[in-house]
Amino acid sequence: MAPRIYTSPVPSFPILSTSVFTRLFAPRASGDIGGFPADLRAFVDAESGASITRAQLVHLALSFGYGIKHHPNTSRFASRGSTVLIYSPNSLAWPVVLFGSVAAGLRCTLANSAYTAHELAFQYADSGAKVIFTTEDGLSVVREMFAESGIAKAEADKRIVVLGADLRWAGGPSAPAGAASEGLVRMEDLLDKGKLDQEEKFEGPDAHETVYICYSSGTTGKPKGVETTHQNMTTLLDIVAPAFPPLWENSIMLGILPFYHIYGAAKLVHFPFSQGCPVIIQTKFEPDKFCAVIQRFRVTHALVVPPVLVVLARHSAVDEYDLSSLKVLFSGAAPLGHTLVKQVKERLLAKRGGRGELGITQGYGLTETSPTTHLLTVGEADRKMGSIGVLLPNLEARLVEDDEGEVDAEEGKPGELWVRGKTVMKGYLNNPAATANAITPDGWFKTGDVAIRDAEGYYYIVDRRKELIKYKGFQVPPAELEYVLLTHPDIADAAVIGLESVKEATELPRAYVVHAHPEKVRSAEAKAAFARSVGKWMEGKVARHKFLRGGVSVIDAVPKSAAGKILRRDLRELAKQEMARG
Ligand code: AMP
Repeated sequence: MAPRIYTSPVPSFPILSTSVFTRLFAPRASGDIGGFPADLRAFVDAESGASITRAQLVHLALSFGYGIKHHPNTSRFASRGSTVLIYSPNSLAWPVVLFGSVAAGLRCTLANSAYTAHELAFQYADSGAKVIFTTEDGLSVVREMFAESGIAKAEADKRIVVLGADLRWAGGPSAPAGAASEGLVRMEDLLDKGKLDQEEKFEGPDAHETVYICYSSGTTGKPKGVETTHQNMTTLLDIVAPAFPPLWENSIMLGILPFYHIYGAAKLVHFPFSQGCPVIIQTKFEPDKFCAVIQRFRVTHALVVPPVLVVLARHSAVDEYDLSSLKVLFSGAAPLGHTLVKQVKERLLAKRGGRGELGITQGYGLTETSPTTHLLTVGEADRKMGSIGVLLPNLEARLVEDDEGEVDAEEGKPGELWVRGKTVMKGYLNNPAATANAITPDGWFKTGDVAIRDAEGYYYIVDRRKELIKYKGFQVPPAELEYVLLTHPDIADAAVIGLESVKEATELPRAYVVHAHPEKVRSAEAKAAFARSVGKWMEGKVARHKFLRGGVSVIDAVPKSAAGKILRRDLRELAKQEMARG
């Protein structure tokens, strides 16, 4: 039977084959930058208030690109297509470094700024990156990472570029270099050597070259490098745009979500810029600061994850600040519950005496789809609460019942969501087997999420078929944690699942472990003590978002299929019983 293929209610349009840099910065009319006035603010540092205009960003990016290509330390690793790694929390330097690298024709791999040296070492080696951009605070981890990777200190130091707190290049305050970065190349050193005449071009077929490499575990296994091409990203900007048009006039976007996750990279560093909307950059989420920044900068749009909405629903800071400028809260990266949306909306509108507009809406997507494939527009947010919205233009979708894609779900019935179109990644870096598992020969990408499509074409995510756990929007691949747990001298076997926390609007990673010497953990007390010690031990091994916040349980054997696959469903059942027992 022919597959049941769904398209978007928004008409398709021709897709560009061009470079990310050209798409964002090339003038559309005399004197503008990417279709908007050159003197419009592009990015603002929330802490200091320092900012850069669109014109300054182009200048800085081309200067930075020139610096990388000509500085003796970095020029060795700066030929077209080489990879650089960004290991930094959000900062005003971030877009300069990213677009500077892109202008120089480099690929950027984006690492979680909370990674441990070990996690970073994996991404550094796997992505093939050589130069690493980090902050003063990141230096100790980066140095440990180089030591772990067997790269001598003298050579390692030549591969580091330090992004300082000194914002003089953005008209901001100066800050002296810290002792830790003495002798290292600083971002400022790369900015004043010259300027590229123009960016490296990726036109026509070259638009299929990779520009970003974020990491995702996909449906199974450990994190893999996702090759996002120039065309993937430029297409994303164009297909998302029709969902937003009238909102951008006088809009201010809050850039709090991490730029190293594809959601932040696409929706905060690229998309608002492509719409002429300034982004206020905030480094770290803290309820008070978050509310203070919304008040100070009169933020109109904020991209959030569900746990941020929990704060807006419950935290006392919300009462202390004027949040009346907020028009749209846009959630993504994880499931969003009805009740939470209602609570936030009621609370924020009550603060305004029930006046003004406030839309709370959501989008859906994956690192592998650059990321957004579905969006719920603000206009439909109330009527279709709980939906991820409609399919974006130029994409196709299927809801599939079996692994092979031979049976499509009946209309209105659940099926695994498969997506096809120009935002689907090129593949997993150096991993043809994983790519072949994820993308069918005729181009369908298997999301691992189960969805229902209603009669009006609105989709609802109802289940997840893959192993992935999401803690506050961050990926926690069970296989990765299981691998770490198995390095514990007293653990013979391990399995990790996600425990749903309605209170925190997230999943919490929970481990099931088998003791290597079961006789040592016979009593309930011994089991509990061992479980606690394993939880603590993990905190020294992995980044914070992977901590076993859902607890550790000691069991006799990990349930497995005849083929040796962990039966996660059985463990989820067991967790339910354990939670019911308290
Ligand atoms: P990532 O690659 O880190 O962006 O993770 C992608 C996964 O996050 C998806 O496959 C979903 O499981 C989950 N996800 C993203 N957005 C949503 C959403 N709006 N509702 C439910 N799950 C989501």
